[in-house]
Amino acid sequence: MSATLLVRAPLAWLGPGSLVRDAAVVVERGLVTFAGPAGEAPSVSEARALEVDGFLMPAVADRHVHIGLADPGAVLLGGVTAVRDCGWPPDVIFPLADASELPNYNGPLIRAVGPMLTAPGGYPTRDRWAPAGTGLEVRDPGEAERAVRMLAGRGAVALKVALNAEAGPTVSDAELAAICSTAAELRLPVLAHVEGKGQVERALGAGVKEIAHTPWTEPLPDAVVEALAKRTRIVSTLDIQGFGGDTPEVRTAVDNLRRFHAAGGMVLYGSDLGNGPIPPGIDLREVLLLREAGLEPEAVLQAMARGPLARNAPGDLVALASNPLEELEAFEDLRLVVRGGRLVHAA
Ligand SMILES: [Zn+2]
Repeated sequence: MSATLLVRAPLAWLGPGSLVRDAAVVVERGLVTFAGPAGEAPSVSEARALEVDGFLMPAVADRHVHIGLADPGAVLLGGVTAVRDCGWPPDVIFPLADASELPNYNGPLIRAVGPMLTAPGGYPTRDRWAPAGTGLEVRDPGEAERAVRMLAGRGAVALKVALNAEAGPTVSDAELAAICSTAAELRLPVLAHVEGKGQVERALGAGVKEIAHTPWTEPLPDAVVEALAKRTRIVSTLDIQGFGGDTPEVRTAVDNLRRFHAAGGMVLYGSDLGNGPIPPGIDLREVLLLREAGLEPEAVLQAMARGPLARNAPGDLVALASNPLEELEAFEDLRLVVRGGRLVHAA
């Protein structure tokens, strides 16, 4: 098999503000070496050439999954070529993340946070979905600091802290501060599961960089939304609040996310795959809820894309039968999935 792939399409979205007619993308040894008008593409003999009759764009990254509760092959086939696992025992998830880099791995690239940092007996240590080791209990600030360093050493791409006051005790302010300052020193973001009164404010005060779920338990005050928009990113996970049904939790989360986006906050697509009946791959319900939250079609694509298609970007592509900038339902009809230049699916 050739190490070079050339994909042509009548229309491609390469990244924000970059919509190209009659486009070509060249992937060599897993990385994009050209993305732009087909007329300007370098001539690549030996390349495997594909013409797709549709809309080409970067493949999708899901920034909140529990891959151990899902089928990785189905995730990849569904257009998601990279995931961030947001809570799983370290002895399982870090080796799996390593294995996901191999060309014969049938699934998306996995990046992981490892276990969630929590208080003794806190979320998710008593939750049935979470195998032993999904929570890492810390008893004082020193232990919190050592836990962050240990996880960073094992390859964590972020630290996740459980601030779930409804499911049990949470880490103290001093422990939270130790987690955030150690992570900052190691240049890793802190991601928080925030649930219960006052926990969003605690996360903000401590310097948490990402909120793992759009807050859903209460409408956030505008001042809190504005502060979140300035200082954090939010991983959407709207669909888990209703799985297609219209629930008060969906309404509250959509409204919170609408104001966050309007205030200029950065939204990341995430499904919380593994939590209830979330379909593997691109979750169209999540996509449509992002639209309900006021994200313009291009903002939805930006939230979903693994990254812009440009030189040296990962060679991860999807093609759709029609243009999602006109109708986001286009994500229902996936025509092509490429991970690292490797053809996964072609309709
Ligand atoms: Zn989760």
